[in-house]
Amino acid sequence: MKPQLKNQYQELGALDKANKISETFCIYPFTLLFVGSGGTPIPCCISEHHHYPIEGDGKDRDGHYIIPTESLKGYWNSKALERTRKNMLEGKKDPGCSRCWVDEKNGQASKRISDIDKIPGANFGTFNTIEEFKEHVIKRPKILWIDLQMANLCNMACRMCNPWNSSEIEREALLYKDELSKDDAFRKRWVDPLEEVERVKDYWRSPEFNQELKDLIPTLEVLTVSGGEPTVNKYFNNIIDFCIENDYAKNLVLKFNTNAQQINRKYMDKLKPFKFVEMKVSMDGTGTVFDYIRHLGKWETCSKNRLMFEEYRSEIFDVNSDPTYQILNILNLPELLQWHLDNNLKVTNLNPVHVPEFYNITCLPKEIRKVAYDKLYEWTLRKDNEIESGLKRSIKNVLLHLQAEDLNYQRKWFPKFIKHTATLDKMRGQSFKEMVPELYDLLKQYGY
Ligand code: SF4
Repeated sequence: MKPQLKNQYQELGALDKANKISETFCIYPFTLLFVGSGGTPIPCCISEHHHYPIEGDGKDRDGHYIIPTESLKGYWNSKALERTRKNMLEGKKDPGCSRCWVDEKNGQASKRISDIDKIPGANFGTFNTIEEFKEHVIKRPKILWIDLQMANLCNMACRMCNPWNSSEIEREALLYKDELSKDDAFRKRWVDPLEEVERVKDYWRSPEFNQELKDLIPTLEVLTVSGGEPTVNKYFNNIIDFCIENDYAKNLVLKFNTNAQQINRKYMDKLKPFKFVEMKVSMDGTGTVFDYIRHLGKWETCSKNRLMFEEYRSEIFDVNSDPTYQILNILNLPELLQWHLDNNLKVTNLNPVHVPEFYNITCLPKEIRKVAYDKLYEWTLRKDNEIESGLKRSIKNVLLHLQAEDLNYQRKWFPKFIKHTATLDKMRGQSFKEMVPELYDLLKQYGY
């Protein structure tokens, strides 16, 4: 680990404690299940664990090893997950966690590090000694948190999404299938998965899955639901009803993401019986940058609904935002952060878009990254007294990311960004030039 990174995080104390267990330790495989939009469980939302099955967990029809996906408990007790935990305890880098290892290699705080103390009931601070922590958390891994990506049902079609997480993109992909198949990036991300998406997208409707979820809810600390867009999914509402009607809500923290386009007071009122509600509003830009990235969404609606969220904020109701940053909004980031400050909406984290790779900021030419760096750095200096330490750490991470140079990555992915953007503009009748003018002006010299 780079000294720079350690300095950034040592104030948390938790990192030092985690390092006493091992330098690759992560809390997630011991406490959390993330269920992707196809119903595949993995240790967290960025893990690629499902690509690394192991002998003993079963084989598919073609004789290939597979990770058990039919039952959550089956996965929790699988040999593959046991291997991941063992790797982490022995200080080895599990292959399914490559995104964290890449971030740490670049000097950034990985999700493993940022989230080290995030699990209620399994934080280092909850226990007096490391030995106690090992006894309660490591020796007896227990599902305390389920993070559910509930299908692809969504009212928006964001540029970085695909048919797995947006039914609107699934619709577009079906409509323009022949044309999109001619472009490598669209074929791989949008067209090829269509059949599989159709086959598994409704996993959460199955009686078996619903029963298993209901059996787990009484002992959970936290339930997170993302999408698609949870608020337009009646099955998410059924889960909420189940928790309220059976009195589990009072012991459960409910977290969900929303694009804030259709949410209303009736919906907010319904959530009151939960022990705590955290609503993350997805905002990745201001004005036309928002409208361009989050296609079919309206910045005006999002911005207006913020006033309603303000009414509901209380000790048991938190509304905040974890913007993702990528090529399209990196220059707009200071304006977006300023908007959050002006509107009293907390930013807890800034998450990089890793996939698709052509939206990752590492693709950008050095000169443009420098402009983005200077702009964000100057804004942060000016606002030093107004921003919280958590956000400062996150901004430092973005600045480190903007300095990371990878010419091979740039050569491979930057042209794909240009092509992808132009194809979507044509299909959607949008204009990169008009909607993201600041970036467009800088990109002109690179052939845009
Ligand atoms: S190490 Fe990173 S990728 Fe692996 S489970 Fe932890 S947070 Fe997820």
